[in-house]
Order: sequence, then structure tokens, then C-alpha cells
Amino acid sequence: MLIDAHCHLANLSSKYLLSTLLDEAQLYGIEAYLSNALTKEEARIYQELNDKRIKFSAGVHPNFDECDLEVEDVVRLAEQKQIWAVGEIGVDRYGPPFPQQQALFEAQLKIASDFGLPVVLHIVGFQTEAWQIMRKFPLRYLIHGYAGSLPAFELFAKQDNIWFTISERILRLDKTELLQATIDSGKYLFETDITAQYAQAKELNPLLRLVVLLSRVERFSRIPHSELLQVQADNYQQLLDFSL
Ligand SMILES: [Zn+2]
Repeated sequence: MLIDAHCHLANLSSKYLLSTLLDEAQLYGIEAYLSNALTKEEARIYQELNDKRIKFSAGVHPNFDECDLEVEDVVRLAEQKQIWAVGEIGVDRYGPPFPQQQALFEAQLKIASDFGLPVVLHIVGFQTEAWQIMRKFPLRYLIHGYAGSLPAFELFAKQDNIWFTISERILRLDKTELLQATIDSGKYLFETDITAQYAQAKELNPLLRLVVLLSRVERFSRIPHSELLQVQADNYQQLLDFSL
């Protein structure tokens, strides 16, 4: 079973009939999605869809103008047990002044802590600062699409409550060291981060990018895909902590 551990399916549904995409992707082994809501409308779409293959998170993004979710919305969704995690939230070097980002980030980590939820992280720059904040909140973290510095990666990877997604972003030649380190850490899942905007004009099913990603990782790492899938499944289990 293949899991898309970070995507924006509600957003994608503005361009595609989602059920058709999901059914086809299932034939390729993609059976679960950790998807994100960044707007009130997207949260509503997931609730209406109520598809067992999709779990969604919600959060106030540090640097996305169209995000109209507020901290209160995240609390309400957590109270109603609608979301599997808080996110994507975090810090972004292109966003508003850092103190403002920090306050919003901490307020949402507090929600995750209150409700015992994992956190989906968007970290662009500010890695040291993010770590200083995260260490105050011992939660389960999924750092999505990490493509930052190698030393910061190594620091994060040492913690047993932090997992990562492998995205197209680190399949580039200038990121091979980071890709290798991510594979060596054994703490990876796979993501497409697909949105309507990322989908190409004639792309029939952008969810299938995950299958391509997996085969590229297999070729790069020389680890058979059955083993990659097993590691991913174990990490998924721990991240969602089904034992609770
Ligand atoms: Zn995303």
C-alpha cells in the first residue's frame, strides 16, 4: 500500500472529479492520503466528501495569502474530531515578520498539544528557530517536503518524534545528499504535495505522480520498493499512533 503523505485534494477538486482520480490511483496501490485544508471551503469539502481514503489536517499557514482559516477554526475542527493533525503550519523566510509567525505557530502547537494531535510542518528557512519552538512541544511532527540544509535535517532526524516526506523537490541533482540522508534515516513517507495549480494542463491523473516518485527513489537508493513501502507503512503507523 502506497500513501500520499502530503497533498491538497480539496484544492485539486476544483479541476478534477476527485472520486475518479482516487479510484484509478487505488488500482496503482495508492490507498491513503494525508491531505490538507488551508481554507474554510477546503475543510468543508473534506467533510462533505467523507471518503475513507482521505484524512485531512487543517492549520493557519505561515505564508499563503489565500489561507482564510483562523485559529478558532482549527480548534473547532479538532473538537469535532474532524482532523488527523494540525497543519500545515510552521515558519517561512518569505512570510511576515518572525515574531508574528512565532506567535501563530506556538498558538497552533498548543492546540495540537491540547488535543493530542500530530503536526504537519512547513519549514522554509528559520530551521534553528523552528527547532527552538518545537522542542518546547513534544509532539509527533511530519516535516513535509523538507529541502533545507543537511545539518538541520540531521538534527531533526535524531529525534524519534519527527518524520519526513520525500518529495520531487529532493530528487534533484543538487539535493542528492539530502535525499540519501533522508533514506538513511529510515523516517520517510512519500508525498506529491499536489494542488490544482501544480497539475499540468493535460495531466490526466496527477495523483499517479506518487508511483513515479517511488520508482525514482527505488532506482536512486537500490532499495527494493517492497522495502521502501514497508518503512513508509511503519512510519505511517507511528505517526498516527494507532495504538492510542
Ligand atoms: Zn502543501
